[in-house]
Formats: sequence, C-alpha cells, structure tokens
Amino acid sequence: MSRHLAAMVLLLPLAAHAGGVMSINALRARAVTDPHGVIADVRQRLDHGGPNLAQADERALLWGMGTAAINADDEAALTESTLRLDSLGHAGGDAVALAASGFLRARHDVANGIGDGLGEALRAAARVQGSGDAQLVAWARFQLCDAYALAESAAKALPLCRRAEDSYRAVGDAWGIADAENDEGIALATLGRTREAAAAYQRSRRRFAGLGATELAVMVGDNLSKMYLKLGRPREALALSRTSLAHELAAGRISDSLDSSTDIARAEAALGHPHQAYAMMQATVARARAAGIDGQLVDLLRSESELAERAGRMHDAVAQLREALKRTAATSTPALRAIEAELEARYAVREKELRIHDLERENRIKDLALKAARAEARQREEARRRDVLVGRVTGGALAGLLLVAVLLFLLLRAQRRHAAELRLQALRDPLTGIDNRRAFLQHADALLPLRGDAPAPVLMLIDVDHFKRINDSAGHPQGDRVLVQVSTFLCEAVGTHGRVSRIGGEEFAVLCPTLGAEAGMRLAETLRAGVAGLPLSSKVGPERVTVSIGVAVFDALRHLDLDGWMRAADAALYAAKSSGRDQAVAAARID
Ligand code: GH3
Ligand code: MG
Ligand code: MG
Repeated sequence: MSRHLAAMVLLLPLAAHAGGVMSINALRARAVTDPHGVIADVRQRLDHGGPNLAQADERALLWGMGTAAINADDEAALTESTLRLDSLGHAGGDAVALAASGFLRARHDVANGIGDGLGEALRAAARVQGSGDAQLVAWARFQLCDAYALAESAAKALPLCRRAEDSYRAVGDAWGIADAENDEGIALATLGRTREAAAAYQRSRRRFAGLGATELAVMVGDNLSKMYLKLGRPREALALSRTSLAHELAAGRISDSLDSSTDIARAEAALGHPHQAYAMMQATVARARAAGIDGQLVDLLRSESELAERAGRMHDAVAQLREALKRTAATSTPALRAIEAELEARYAVREKELRIHDLERENRIKDLALKAARAEARQREEARRRDVLVGRVTGGALAGLLLVAVLLFLLLRAQRRHAAELRLQALRDPLTGIDNRRAFLQHADALLPLRGDAPAPVLMLIDVDHFKRINDSAGHPQGDRVLVQVSTFLCEAVGTHGRVSRIGGEEFAVLCPTLGAEAGMRLAETLRAGVAGLPLSSKVGPERVTVSIGVAVFDALRHLDLDGWMRAADAALYAAKSSGRDQAVAAARID
C-alpha cells in the first residue's frame, strides 16, 4: 500500500491573514517539511502576541501548530494546541476552534489506532458543516476524507475525497484540490484500482508542482511510483523514486529515503537487473542498521529476501527471512502463525506477479536443484514442526523458517512448471491469438526512450465502427468471427512494419517502431480501405465492416511519455469517429 502522506493536514484557509509575513501555502508546506520549525514559531508568536491576538488568528496559529505536531510526532505540542483550541472554543463560543481540535484528535487517534477517531472526526465535521461558509465546508470534507483514507476505510473515503475536491474547486483552492486528489489516490490504491489511483496521483503531483510545492509533489511522486511498478511501468517508477531519494537525503529524512531506495531496487528488478537490485537493497538494509532504524527493519529484510531470491541467492534469501521472522517473533511470539500465514499469502501473490518475468532468470534452475535436495531432508521434519507450531510457540521461529523454506521450494517448483504457459497466456488475446493490451503496453514502453536518428515510431488506434450493430443483428458469435477476420487482415497488412494488438473489445492498436509520419499515414489508409473491402464470411451478418483509425507519430517534446502518446492517438480516433467514421485521421492535424 502507498505510504500515507500523514503530513498533509492543512491550515485553516479562512485565516489566511493570520500568518502575517508568510503566505498560507508556504505555511501549509512548512507544516509538512519543517514541522519542528512551525511549532517553535507558533509558540513564539503566541507568547509575544498574547492577549492582543485576534481570535481567528490565534485559532489559525494553533491549528498550524497541531498539524505540525502530528507530522513531527510531538505529543506535547499536540496536547498544547488541542487544549488551547478547546478553551478558545468554550470560552469564546468558537465552533470552528472546537472542530479544529476535534479533527486534530481524530487524526492522532486514527493514526495510532486508539479511541474512536472516525467518530471524533464526524462530530467535528458536524460542528461546521451547517455553517454556510464554503471554505469551512471544504475544509471539513477534506478532513473527513483524510481520516477515512488514513483509517484504510477506502470505500468510504473515496466519495468524501471527491466531494472535498469539488468543494475546494468551488472556492478556488488549488492546494486543497491537490491534497484531496492525493487522498483519492490512496483510497483507490487501497481498493486495488491501480490505474485510477495513478491518474489521481498524477493530477495531484502536477498541481503541487504548479503551486511551487516541490517537496509535496515529490511525496505524491512516491505514491505514484508504486502504482507505476504495479502497472508494469518500471522506467517511470525508477525516475520518480530517484527524485524522491535525492530530496529525502538532502532533507535528512532517513526513514523516507529507505523506502525510496527499496522502491528503486524493486524497479531495477522489474527492469531485469536482479543483481543490481539486490546490491541496492543490501546497501539499504545496511543503512537502516547503521541509523538504528529498527521499526522498518523487518519490512526491509523481507524486501531484501525477495530480491536475493530474484538474484538467485537462495542462501541469503532464507537467512534474511529467518532474521525477519526472529525479529517479529521476538516482539510477538503468539503471532507466529499469523506471520506464517502472511508469508504464505505474500508468496502466493508474489508468485503470480513473478511468473511473467521469471523466464529471464538464468540462475533459477541451478538453484532449484540445490534447493530440492535440501528440501527433501526438511520435508521429513514437517509433521513434527507443525505440532510444535500448533501446540507450543517456543522454538517457533525455527519451525517457521522451515515451513517457509518448504513453501518457497514448492512455490518455486510450481512456478517453473507454469511460467512459460502463463507468460504466454498473460500476453495473448484468447479470441484472436494476437498480443493483448498488456503485451502492447510492454512493447510500447520498451520503445521509449528513442534513438534520435531513426524515423519516429507510429501508433495507430483502430476501432471497429458501429460494432454493436453487428452483435445486435447477427449475434455475438458472429461478432467474434468478424473480430478474428479483421485481426487476421490487420496482421497480414501490417506485416513486418509493426505489431498488431487487441487492446479492447473491438479496439486494436498497431505499433510501428520506425515507420515515420508519411509511411504511417499511407499504411493507415491501406488498413482502412482493406477492412472496408473485406468479404465477410457470414450470410446473416452485415455486408461490410469499416474501421476508424487515429494515427499519432511519437514526439518526445509534445507527448512526454506513453500516456501522452496514447492520448494523442485516442484524440485522433475520436476525431475520425466524429467526422463520419471509415477514415484515418492523423493526430498532428487535430492538436
Ligand atoms: P462506434 O462506431 O462509436 O465505435 O460504435 P460501436 O458500436 O463500435 O461502439 P461501442 O463501444 O458502443 O460498442 C462496442 C461493442 O463491442 C459493445 C460490446 O458488446 C462489443 N464487444 C466488446 N467485446 C466484444 C467481443 O469480444 N466479442 C463481441 N462479439 N463483441 C464485443
Ligand atoms: Mg470502442
Ligand atoms: Mg466501435
């Protein structure tokens, strides 16, 4: 799951004048990047301003202090700010101050898993929701979204975050929108809606960058990087995590920098550099040990073990898992079975993910043979070990290790057996037998970045016109046959110029790595005319079928990345549809 930007709790927008010299957004950024400094500043201002401070100013300063205290994990400062907000609320009849202290306590309780944080947040929101003040309402909605997102109640958080975005949009608060978009991303990521989560993070990141809030853009970039990894876009993930690491090291945020180093190592592994990835992860663990950061060590060791295994270093992998287990078992021995269950689940999930890339791992077979010999001896221990696990947890760490080793062996063996078959299945469209969307994205991703000297690559998005009518009139099976015919024709006509993929129901993509603009348009026209002239095989079906084609030549300056390139081709396809279908339109003409 994405790391939560717990940092992004905001200052009250309605008290923008309270900051005096500093702009409200500068304060918002400082509450995240320099919380200790904010706490010290607020204390000084409260001491000097004393009784002369206007109530709204005092309230805003206390809220700033409270948000910074949460980010800095400073319980004393948090208590000071909530108590003072409460007394402002009770003595001065200030409902906003009471709401602010409620939200701060809610944030603290949810983050620490104590009390009824969500109830507290709901009560705080109720204090201001009827106020009729649009900025206050936006603020309260965002606080609710944030509390639910942090509590991992993603299904509830999502609509709240979207409403918070709308409210912030209505009052023109770009920072608030960016903050809520990030939380929307977190909720979507928790729900497993990775592609949408990536889109939300992209919007948030661009918006923060546009506001000059570089550090926050970088933090959102961390979340985005994890989505890119899941979406099979390791190159983009790597670039983002490298930027994060540089910022975190410069700012001395050691714990964050360990996470980013882990992300970098994972991206390197996904790019097919297992040894480099493992070396990077070893250095990361060494750095965590040197800095005495024990809290993250178990997670880091598990990542190290995973990457050791990918690099074919099975001895290391098992040793690291053993240490992770020991460390976990040392703090909660009765939870041993839960740990094993989690490991089992993790390996099951990971096995699925790894299947696709596994064929490239050269050392696998050799190491498996070694593993098999050792595993046979261990299997005899298995029954006794299970008894020990169920009955007495003492000595559980060793038994757990053995179970993990056997699991590892079994899973790896199954993995080798199925890898080739699954790899094909995962990349092939079952109806037409051509590349599917995943394969298309991999090829397109590998094309970028480009060599400067070759003619530019061309992307065509092809959508069958009025395909629904074919289904409706001739039936779904006949629709399928038409799809196969169109696919077969496209493959023949494209030939060695490029690859044809089926990227959606009746949508195809043609990727020509070095065709260039003119030849690209000629080919598109050939494809269009060819499909229109296809003799269809069924008597019941339509007499002819036509396609609309959007053509985009890659232009690094304009499209930036694969997303941009696909958007351009899609816009061209849309233009072809809008101007009557059965035609090919080039992206350049409609930009
Ligand atoms: P347009 O010209 O605007 O593209 O119209 P359309 O009817 O082609 O577009 P629309 O997206 O509305 O319809 C696409 C249809 O394709 C809807 C869906 O039932 C059908 N379809 C999607 N996948 C398959 C498939 O695998 N087989 C068959 N037979 N039909 C499919
Ligand atoms: Mg369509
Ligand atoms: Mg269509």
